[in-house]
Amino acid sequence: MKDCIFCKIANKEIPSKIIYEDDTIVVFQDIEPQAPVHVLIIPKQHISSLNDIDEDKAGIISHIFTQIPDLAKELGVHESGYRVVVNCGADGGQSVGHLHYHLLGGRSLTWPPG
Ligand code: 5GP
Ligand code: ZN
Repeated sequence: MKDCIFCKIANKEIPSKIIYEDDTIVVFQDIEPQAPVHVLIIPKQHISSLNDIDEDKAGIISHIFTQIPDLAKELGVHESGYRVVVNCGADGGQSVGHLHYHLLGGRSLTWPPG
């Protein structure tokens, strides 16, 4: 989608530190990491938010979650633990309108978040 920053990252129109990519998803370092490990997992297809997930997109969502254990191993947090977060909409703190899963780890994460 035009003017979507994460579509541009997926299309390599703007640079990012990509740590994994396949036909369906791209995983890259968050530009403002909130923890020693902080990557964003995005579908290559533009999906605006959790609100736009339906049965047609179930395969993409399933693929994201089935990649997470291997990503966590690669990032060194599989044993220590990690958190996966999706923000949705204004009150949820979503600032980029392309569905993304934060994977955070490498330190003890407090709950609830600030
Ligand atoms: P949200 O607040 O929407 O849940 O998360 C958006 C995330 O995208 C933030 O953690 C922010 O640091 C990250 N982000 C925003 N713009 C860019 C960018 O241009 N490159 C990268 N790598 N991360 C970005
Ligand atoms: Zn997009």
